[in-house]
Amino acid sequence: MTLDNIKEEIEKANSIVLLTHENPDGDAIGSTLAFYLALKQLGKEVDIIIPKFSRTFAFLPGAEKIMKEGTKTQYDLAIALDSADLKRLNGWVNYFEDAKVTVSIDHHGSNQMYADFNFVNPAAPACAQILVTVLEFLQVEITKDIGTCLLTGIITDTGGFKYPGVTAETFEFASWLLGIGVNVSEIYKKVLQVKTKSNFELSKIAMDRLEFLEDGKIAYTYITNEDLEKVNAETGDHEGLVEIGRDVEGVEVSIFLREEEKGIKASLRSNDYLNVSDVCIAFGGGGHPRAAGCTIIGTMEHAKQKIISQIKQNLK
Ligand code: 5GP
Ligand code: MN
Repeated sequence: MTLDNIKEEIEKANSIVLLTHENPDGDAIGSTLAFYLALKQLGKEVDIIIPKFSRTFAFLPGAEKIMKEGTKTQYDLAIALDSADLKRLNGWVNYFEDAKVTVSIDHHGSNQMYADFNFVNPAAPACAQILVTVLEFLQVEITKDIGTCLLTGIITDTGGFKYPGVTAETFEFASWLLGIGVNVSEIYKKVLQVKTKSNFELSKIAMDRLEFLEDGKIAYTYITNEDLEKVNAETGDHEGLVEIGRDVEGVEVSIFLREEEKGIKASLRSNDYLNVSDVCIAFGGGGHPRAAGCTIIGTMEHAKQKIISQIKQNLK
């Protein structure tokens, strides 16, 4: 069984590196930090490499241990969390590829099974929820700190327990965490409610530009690098903007575009039936049926047209 293999590899490894996807969200950061704290509890030597992340998550236990670069070029074991494919590991993929053994723990249906051992469960609403099973298997004690990181992943990836992927286990675990003293409402407030000023300013811009297409079934908006500069945006300040359009009556798909070094980054969300992961896979990206992303080379207008024509094939 995969978990037996993962346990054995962790036991054998003298050096472990933890990695997650670029533009890391709360599940990426929360899962990685929870696993870091767990491995430290098991007495392992662990590096955690995340070159850039939103300061929203800087309060999490262990966040101060996050490094921009590794202390080694080759680790015995590399573990990628919440990452559907190797491309998503971006510039730090070399730590993964150069490691002697690799593991992926993830909940994306589009996971490419790129590691030596892949523990993937697309039915889990967050990678952090899968870790509850993994940590129990590894006989790690889920402390208040580990619980805080896990709950951050669960809260962010379920939109605060409201997405359909939420299971009875999600609430059971949250309830158990409350019982051991994890401050659920404080975490909720910090990771979902409070916005940075720049994020708020970007929301105004994105809202102002929101366009409805195809009889109001598609919502489209974007921000440019110029906008980011104008509001002094930092890493992660664009988070949540795609949800503005998704939450308008009659909208099935919301598209949000922004400029990145590699091209135009698209974030897609859907409400009832349209599989946005499939739409994004067509452009080399992926994600979940109701939340996905991809990068398209070219202008913003080009990316917009490409995505809309792909969506139209499946719009009812
Ligand atoms: P977001 O729109 O918040 O950036 O991402 C939504 C979901 O799609 C997340 O689960 C994220 O990991 C996934 N995702 C976003 N961009 C990409 C991409 O370029 N490739 C893949 N495989 N998944 C992506
Ligand atoms: Mn996730």
